[in-house]
Amino acid sequence: MTTFPQPPPGLEAQALVQWAADTFREDLALACSAGVEDSVLVHLAAQTGHRVRVFMLDTGRLHPETHETFDRLRLSYPQLRFEVYSPEADEVEALVAGQGLFGFRDSLVARHTCCEVRKLAPLRRALAGSRAWLTGLRREQSPTRADLLATEPDGGSPERLKVAPLLDWDLARTWAFVSKHHIPTHPLHQAGFPSIGCAPCTRAIEPGEDLRAGRWWWERPEHKECGLHNRPGKA
Ligand code: SF4
Repeated sequence: MTTFPQPPPGLEAQALVQWAADTFREDLALACSAGVEDSVLVHLAAQTGHRVRVFMLDTGRLHPETHETFDRLRLSYPQLRFEVYSPEADEVEALVAGQGLFGFRDSLVARHTCCEVRKLAPLRRALAGSRAWLTGLRREQSPTRADLLATEPDGGSPERLKVAPLLDWDLARTWAFVSKHHIPTHPLHQAGFPSIGCAPCTRAIEPGEDLRAGRWWWERPEHKECGLHNRPGKA
């Protein structure tokens, strides 16, 4: 089993990002889907003095606002490296030939197949060679994230460390931070989308609904992950 460097206990978000950047340097990446948590992480990464690599997975089904937000972040933080990874064209063509453009709604297996082609395969390419990555996961986002740790081996590769500096932040604190620092944020957050993924798999939520209720709303809450954040030994 891989033994990872571990941060001192109790580090605040900025200190944890700094520790990750100092420890892993060019082997650190930041996954950015342009949600508000990722806006915070990009800002924190920009304060480290390292040219952290920020990547987006462009599934081919994203809202145009997601592209625009990612590019606003790129322009706002030129001290970082921004990259976009896309699925392989032949794999997308085979997927669509097999299940159509909306087959992911037919079953959990079909949905996971789409996420595998459009997200997970590009993620593996984006993280190839990285020893650690930063994610904007927060515990309050969903039942599948309630027992996460700030540093964990990556479910996709036990050789890689996943670092979640915002784990204990609530939504109010997250928004207060981006407001204070004038950080670009995704406009769909203001239209009732607390969590934003692919356009056909994301809807606005009603007041009082769970934060992740708008993601894959036809599925049970414990199924609402795309595989990016699978964990060893967890469903
Ligand atoms: S979120 Fe929906 S459209 Fe996007 S990759 Fe997964 S199943 Fe496909």
